[in-house]
Amino acid sequence: MAIATINPATGETLRTFEPLSDEAVEERLARAAAAFAGYRLTTAQQRAGWLRSAADVLEADTKAVAELMTTEMGKTLAAAEAEVGKCVKALRHYAEHGEQMLQPRPADADAVGAVEAYVVHQPIGAVLAVMPWNFPLWQAMRFAAPALMAGNVGLLKHASNVPQTALYLEELFRKAGFPDDVFQTLLIGSGQVEAVLRDERVAAATLTGSNAAGQAVARTAGDVIKKTVLELGGSDPFIVMPSADLDRAAEVAVTARCQNNGQSCIAAKRFFVHADVAEEFTRLFAEKLAALPVGDPMDADTKVGPLATESGREDVERFVSDAVEKGATVVTGGKRVDRPGWFYEPTLVTDVTPEMELWTDEVFGPVAALRTVADLDEAVRLANEHVYGLGSNLWSEDQGERLRFIRDIQSGMAFVNGMTTSYPELPFGGVKQSGYGRELTELGMYEFMNAKTVWIG
Ligand code: NDP
Repeated sequence: MAIATINPATGETLRTFEPLSDEAVEERLARAAAAFAGYRLTTAQQRAGWLRSAADVLEADTKAVAELMTTEMGKTLAAAEAEVGKCVKALRHYAEHGEQMLQPRPADADAVGAVEAYVVHQPIGAVLAVMPWNFPLWQAMRFAAPALMAGNVGLLKHASNVPQTALYLEELFRKAGFPDDVFQTLLIGSGQVEAVLRDERVAAATLTGSNAAGQAVARTAGDVIKKTVLELGGSDPFIVMPSADLDRAAEVAVTARCQNNGQSCIAAKRFFVHADVAEEFTRLFAEKLAALPVGDPMDADTKVGPLATESGREDVERFVSDAVEKGATVVTGGKRVDRPGWFYEPTLVTDVTPEMELWTDEVFGPVAALRTVADLDEAVRLANEHVYGLGSNLWSEDQGERLRFIRDIQSGMAFVNGMTTSYPELPFGGVKQSGYGRELTELGMYEFMNAKTVWIG
């Protein structure tokens, strides 16, 4: 993919960039290594101070950065502003709690025959972050805030369609006063990632994106024995039981499916609704989906903007027509919007079965797949048949059902009476083909740290 800003609301190419040459990449890797040599010796208080000032700089830049994201990948301006706010919060979270997270953990010295024993978390070096376009600021910040607090240095290979947001991130950390080169953006294509990861100055990698990209990075990392964290696809179940507040569940279902124009790994994608309430829930859900204003993402009234890429819309169209051919019913939506740009109508498809790609694949667009079930056990069984296990949602007032759901659902995150969301205070990640490792909280920070055992006799 060419490195370029192409406005998805118009299809217009606004700016193109040349990928870095091999020599330029080499120079940046040398700078990263030099930066780490000094940065690892800074104190947690110093790093917290830089994170705080990054939060202030970002907050002041909110409008400009939000407009940039909307222009590059089509999310609504309101969603882009909210994303900036979330990043500000994450920076402040690690600034406030990072020092405590980095305190040595004392162990029972007597039990191990020592005078003193403890575990200290130390930074490991330059970490490569291969990031997607869907939350161009947040995905990168989810990596950067804990990594920089930890004392690591960051190398960002962002998706090729969000180069200006990628460059802004480098500038943000520079403007915040971090030492030179502790966070660098590498404008490179995906074909250049392998050489960077193999380089001995790169310690580890984190990737958020498709399974194909995750496999490629994990394969290389396996070859050179480097740690990876992978946050890959999801097809989150959203289970509605008879005791649920149906109107509220339908309201949240719309947001959970259509947030970010339907392009979120933790979007609810498969809806399992108990037969007793299926008709009513389907009606409410369809009405609310059909009422969503679709249009110019810069417009304050718009709730659903275009898909980020032309090929992304073609994928969604293919999934829907495959489902219809195999017997599914389109209740609302089901086609592209007749205007320039890559718009697709908010869509509800029922009678979805495991033979359909709409069920087996990750649908990155505002298309909900609904299936009626006899009880919670059937919903959980069908949900667990999927290769993915990222987030999951249950709507029920029944305590027994809630506990069974939490025990049995195969996912990294279980949300009851709410939609899957990421918070700095809660670990984020999946199981099965959704990847491994965790982001956020202290767990996310420790993923790229050496938990060094210290024994003093
Ligand atoms: P990709 O997984 O291709 O892109 C994500 C990142 O990985 C980008 O920086 C990309 O770079 C890079 N990348 C791609 N292939 C490789 C590779 N072989 N080696 C190293 N890096 C690589 O996502 P797409 O944009 O193509 O989206 C395709 C589908 O992936 C979506 O429809 C969705 O299903 C899923 N996806 C899931 C996301 C999530 O949040 N879990 C986010 C984005 C996509 P470049 O842009 O230069 O190709």
